[in-house]
Amino acid sequence: MNYIQGMERLGIEELVFCHDRFTGLRAIIAIHDTTLGPAMGGVRMKPYTCEEEAYADVVMLARAMSYKAAAAGLDLGGGKAVIIGDPAVHKNEALLRAFGRFVERLGGRYITAVDSGINEYDIDCIRRETAYALGGTPAGGRGGCPSPATAYGVLQGMKACAEQVYGTRSLAGLTVAVQGLGSVGSVLCQHLAGEGAKLFVSDLDEKRGKAVAAQYQAVWADPADIHKISCDIFSPCALGGVINQVTVNELNCRIVAGAANNVLSDERLGDTLHAKGILYAPDYVINAGGLIYIAHERTSYLPEEIMGIVGRIGERLSLIFRRSELQKVPPCRVAAGMAEERINSVKGLLALRSDF
Ligand code: NAD
Repeated sequence: MNYIQGMERLGIEELVFCHDRFTGLRAIIAIHDTTLGPAMGGVRMKPYTCEEEAYADVVMLARAMSYKAAAAGLDLGGGKAVIIGDPAVHKNEALLRAFGRFVERLGGRYITAVDSGINEYDIDCIRRETAYALGGTPAGGRGGCPSPATAYGVLQGMKACAEQVYGTRSLAGLTVAVQGLGSVGSVLCQHLAGEGAKLFVSDLDEKRGKAVAAQYQAVWADPADIHKISCDIFSPCALGGVINQVTVNELNCRIVAGAANNVLSDERLGDTLHAKGILYAPDYVINAGGLIYIAHERTSYLPEEIMGIVGRIGERLSLIFRRSELQKVPPCRVAAGMAEERINSVKGLLALRSDF
């Protein structure tokens, strides 16, 4: 694998390979872009089958974090980390603290947070070694799990999508197929049921998923079929890459709007969705609620004020959809253009500053 060539292609600033022989830690930290501020992004722990798989995941996720922070108007860059290992088997205090030391060594260029396989208790543990970790257990009304904020942001994004397609922000009576009923999907279902939407739901964990279905009078769907259901909104809230060359032709919805990161296995599928008349809410715009929530952990904003900022995701998407119509360009391209424009304009400012 030619790592530096890959970094050049994706614009990755720095890649840190971490190994600690005492704890068995094997991790990669990717810093994509720090123009807007320190690179922020969660640490994911997963039993990757090989280093190449871990590398591919961390660089794509780090890049998406730059776009997410830029699109959300935050003074943050994009980064991500992966720990190679099964959280159920290999995760322990020493390993997490060893990871924390690597984060500390970067001196604040990278700020870590929760992601799959890593919870708020793990962040507390990492924090014993570094000041650059956010999203630990709640203290003084701040911190804690970002998923409710992500779910709230997705809800507001869905309302913007409904307005664009049906001319009304109301979700009452719309059918929504939710794929994945974990910490975001289950809270999203609660909101959607409260809004009067009709739900189809699915999860690989059938027992837990069916319990959520019963709670919100949702119709249970086979995980293999949830994306094929005839509905108004398909909401991917499980894994990335669920829309690929095959599934894109199996969709039967008007809108795709969900929490999952890197929903499209290939960015060009955003053009395909547009050509099919399916409105796609770019993932890093609609799912930024958790990042916005965590980014404000050390500010003096009250939790309800932070949720107000999260709620602006809807306005941001409406702007993207308007520009998409005017420019006759798919929303995913408009969103990427806006994020890149913000990063590049601040890069220009920095150059100006160094002139003095
Ligand atoms: P989670 O791990 O709590 O839940 C994911 C759920 O999806 C699990 O219950 C899992 O069983 C289910 N699942 C996996 N594959 C599936 C499939 N093929 N079909 C149906 N169900 C399947 O994760 P989460 O925190 O709820 O996050 C969901 C997605 O949103 C992830 O892609 C995550 O990266 C992204 N995301 C989460 C946040 C956040 O604040 N948690 C923020 C931004 C993006």
